[in-house]
Amino acid sequence: VFVTFEGGDGVGKSTQAERLQEWLEAEGYTTVRTREPGGTEVGGLVRDIVLHHRGEIIARAEALLYAADRAQHVATVVRPALERGDIVIQDRYFDSSLAYQGAGRVLGRDEVRRLSLWAVEGLIPDVTVLLDLDPDIARERREAQGRPFDRLEAEQAEFHENVRREFLALADAEPARFLVVDASQPVDEIAADVRTRVRSALEW
Ligand code: C5P
Repeated sequence: VFVTFEGGDGVGKSTQAERLQEWLEAEGYTTVRTREPGGTEVGGLVRDIVLHHRGEIIARAEALLYAADRAQHVATVVRPALERGDIVIQDRYFDSSLAYQGAGRVLGRDEVRRLSLWAVEGLIPDVTVLLDLDPDIARERREAQGRPFDRLEAEQAEFHENVRREFLALADAEPARFLVVDASQPVDEIAADVRTRVRSALEW
């Protein structure tokens, strides 16, 4: 079973991924918790470019960098884990590219989806949890946590609004795969909703 967490920066994806892993391990499942960009050594190098390069990276180059990270990660980490029967819990996957590069960078959903699916040879998550939150609140949370600067901090509010809207549109288009959660709720309530959804995926 492949579970992904999606949403803007600072919505609480890694906290929820951690909670889900703790619960699944306590239930006796073997899990792998990973993330992108940066889930492999090559991915770490790509992450450094996409997040910290100060000069311009054109939109298509950015999309290809994320796709390269994802291809390496799926082939060497995610697929082997799924083939062993482990549950993979992942912070961000191709829906992030559809939202950030497709909508944010305006490359278009369908083209970015084609690129992403090619990169991962068609691997689609069983469950995708979308943590939805107003980007202004998310920004305040990041600032409160003192999270370091990355390239997206410089983007205008409109960019983050577009990303949020696209995530919601993606969820609307695939209600069987997505669970949309209001990320302004308490952490425990969100974790409980996620457990319910994942439990039903495990019982299939
Ligand atoms: O979630 P994480 O902190 O790992 O994301 C790193 C950064 O990369 C975030 O600013 C995120 O918005 C951005 N990102 C992106 N396009 C993707 C995935 C992540 O712009 N496809």
